[in-house]
This record gives sequence, C-alpha cells and structure tokens, in this order.
Amino acid sequence: MGLDMKYFQEMEEKIPKGKVRTRFAPSPTGYMHVGNLRTALYTWLIARHAGGTFILRIEDTDQTRQVEGATEVIYRTMAECGLDHDEGPDVGGPVAPYIQTERRDTYGKYAQLLVEKGHAYYCFCEKTESEEDSGDFNRGPDPCRSLSPEAIQAKLDAGAPYVIRQKIPQEGTTTFHDAIFGDITVENKTLDDQVLIKRDGLPTYNFANVVDDHLMGITHVVRGSEYLSSAPKYDLLYQAFGWDVPTYVHCSPVMRDAQNKMSKRHGDPSYEDLKDQGYLTQAILNYVALLGWSPRGEIAEQEIFTLEELAKVFDLAGMSKSPAIFDIEKLNHFNAHYLRAMEPDQFAKVAEPYIRQVVTNPDIDAAEIAALLQARCEKLTEIPEKVDFFQELPEYDKDLFVNKKSKSTEASSIDALELVIPMLELSTSWNTEYIHGSLTGLAEGLGVKNARILWPVRIAAAGKAVTPGGAAEICHILGKEETVRRLKLGLEKLTH
Ligand code: GLU
Repeated sequence: MGLDMKYFQEMEEKIPKGKVRTRFAPSPTGYMHVGNLRTALYTWLIARHAGGTFILRIEDTDQTRQVEGATEVIYRTMAECGLDHDEGPDVGGPVAPYIQTERRDTYGKYAQLLVEKGHAYYCFCEKTESEEDSGDFNRGPDPCRSLSPEAIQAKLDAGAPYVIRQKIPQEGTTTFHDAIFGDITVENKTLDDQVLIKRDGLPTYNFANVVDDHLMGITHVVRGSEYLSSAPKYDLLYQAFGWDVPTYVHCSPVMRDAQNKMSKRHGDPSYEDLKDQGYLTQAILNYVALLGWSPRGEIAEQEIFTLEELAKVFDLAGMSKSPAIFDIEKLNHFNAHYLRAMEPDQFAKVAEPYIRQVVTNPDIDAAEIAALLQARCEKLTEIPEKVDFFQELPEYDKDLFVNKKSKSTEASSIDALELVIPMLELSTSWNTEYIHGSLTGLAEGLGVKNARILWPVRIAAAGKAVTPGGAAEICHILGKEETVRRLKLGLEKLTH
C-alpha cells in the first residue's frame, strides 16, 4: 500500500506553532452538563490567560448518538457564557474543518500510516459495534495481529469488513504526565488493542482526539478525568507517530454527592436546566469556576470574579485533584449576589417575564415590582410566588392582622383601617412618599408606633404576611381604587 507521504508533510506544515492553543471538543449531545461547562471554561481561561488561541471542535463521530439541533445548543451556550472561540466550524481557521465527520479521510490516512509503521493492524474478526466503542471487548490474543500482508490484502480485496486496531506493546510500561495528576504509569499488558477506525470508516474518539489535537497544534488538552485511564494509549499513539505529547490537564469530576458524579440521566441539572431554574449565566460561571479551582495568594479569599478577572488570575496550580461537590445552596448565594449587583433597569428586564407569569394586569407596573424584588430574591423563579398577590388578593385568615412585634391586634387593625380608608379615599395624590407620609402622619397624630398602622394596611392590601415591599409601596403599585377596595374587604373580614 503506497502512502502519499507528501500529504502528511503538508498537514504538518499547516500546524500553527508558537502560541498556547486549547480546544473545547464537545460531542453534540443536546445539552451542556455542568462538568462540560466547567471544562469549556477552564479551556478558554488557559488560552485567554496566555494570550493564546481557543478552538471549538465538534466531535460527532459517534453517529448513533446524534441529536437534532445539538450543535446549536453548544454555540448558544458558548456565546451566552462569553466563551468566544477564535477557530471553529462557524468561523473557520487555518486547520479546518473543525467538525470530525468532515475530517473522515484524514483519520483513514493516518490510520494507514500507523499500520505501515507497525503500530496498528487490520482486524477482520466479527465483533459487535458496541463492543468496539465501549472498549469492553475481551480480546484475548487477536489472530489478526499477526496476519501476513498477503492474507490481509486478500481479505481487503474480497471486501471483507474490518476495523483498524492499535497494536499495543505486550510488554513494558507506559508513563504519562498530567499537569494536575502528575506521573501515571501503567503496565502495557493491561491496555487493550483499541479500535481506531470503525467498520463504518469513521474513527473512534480514542483515535480522532490524538490526530486532531496534533494536527490542530493543541498545546494543552483539557478534559474530564474519565479520560485519564485512556491517556496511556493516547501517549502510545503520539509515540508511534513520533509526535510531541501535549500538556494534559485532566479535570476532577463534578459530583452530586460524595459517591455520585453529576449526571443528566440521573436528573442532575444541565446548564440549560439551571437557567430555567432562574440562575444567571454569570453566577453559574462564577460558581462553576470555583468547583475544582481556587484562587491563591492575595486573592485567596475572593469569591466573586468576572470572566475577565478569571482570565487574568487563572492558573493550573490552583486546580484540584479532588472531586468537587456541586452545592446548589452555594449557587443560590452567588446568584443572589449577581442579582443584587445588577443595574435596576437591567434587573427589571430579566425579572419582568417572571412577574408577568402571574401579574398580567397591564395597569400594574412590572418595573416597580422588580425594584422591590431586587434585594429580596435568590433566583428568578422565586418571583411569581412572591408577587402573585398584586394580580389578585389571595384568600387569607384574619389572624394575619395579629402581630406581636407591631402590637397589632384585631381591634387595633379595625381602628386603623377605619381611619385609613377615608383618608386614602380623599387623597388627591398617589405616590409612595405621599402614601407613606399620610400613614405615618396618622400614627403620629394618634400617638402610636407606625407599625400599628402600617401592619394592618399591608396585610389588607396584600393578603399575605410576607411581601416584597412595605404598605406604601404595595398600595402605590395597586393604585388607589384597588387599594381602597382591598382595605374595605379587610375591614369587613375583621368586623364579621
Ligand atoms: N468529545 C469528548 C467529550 O465530549 C471530548 C473529550 C476531550 O475533550 O478530549 O467528552
């Protein structure tokens, strides 16, 4: 089999050199799980920190796992998160294409090169596809490892289906280095002759990642630690080709609890799920950054980081070997921080859809409700249950009027409402300060604490013990007519 060596030479010449180059290489599964998002973030940070290049590569060689629209989810997530790529399927680049199925011929040629070099072999044995992909196949001594060139050619000529396998040395050990996990040595006899090219002509991930990372000039291979056990086989492939091994950066897993990795299949939230649950992208990214990396030195105590700040301070030395446990309470804390830090009009914009889920009355100003919420919510999905009373007065018990701290009793509430209702009915102005001033002025005139008046008014206006905003703010949002109607209903409840 004569190989066109010029092809390989040209491919080598195309490889960009001299700068840090990292790649995020997701398979299009249709969602971005938290561990994957973190890998994308760390990969981006390593490139940006070094002023290098960040590449997006789509790993779609497992055709049985194709999901409609899945690549869009990847683009959308990366764009939303601000993880911009310099090279990729949509923007092109010097080592295109960046979608693995479009690189099919390349893998075939490199597999043949390996066969030629004696590090891979054609295997004609009958095995099922799933055995090939999972690596579960218990090979035993493979008769195809030692077929004569003539026998191989005869089978190929006869059109016999085949896979190409890596010829792993049967003796000795392989040692590789990982930036996080250090040196790892394995006995070669524990490694299987993994499939490189499948029967359908497409490469396995195990082969494609090595060929692509080399041809794309990747300097740091950042990925989940589930790939650590395969890394010796990748190292053997690099050695077989005579290529430099990139820096491996394997990231410890993100766990649901001490025993279990987070997984979409077991109901753990993906990035999209977290967004649907009311978390902000910035908060998710900030939290995820700290799952497996910690700032050190002067900034050791800092928790809140923008993406730009992270790019400045991120370093491999701060990455941890230990699995990180995903703690939703901690994420709530970050989310509350980011919600509070928003400009009020920006917060109103993100909160409005949640307010409008329950407050459909167009006379009610959603931005004004948003202003009450900003300091009082941890996530956007809490909003509807906090503000539903603006749309409709809920059923409530008159016990709510009784409150020790405000020294409010049923009788004091009756007294208060009997005075407040005519006063508000007669008022010519309806802004929050004016309402507040009238209510506290009344308290002053009566020689009682403000709460004696404000408590029953708020209860009657909202029908709830806990509300965002105080009496005057709620009355203002409801408008005069509706406020008076509700206060009268409250009084009626108390007197019947
Ligand atoms: N396609 C692999 C995955 O989604 C990528 C692993 C790697 O980054 O090398 O898990």
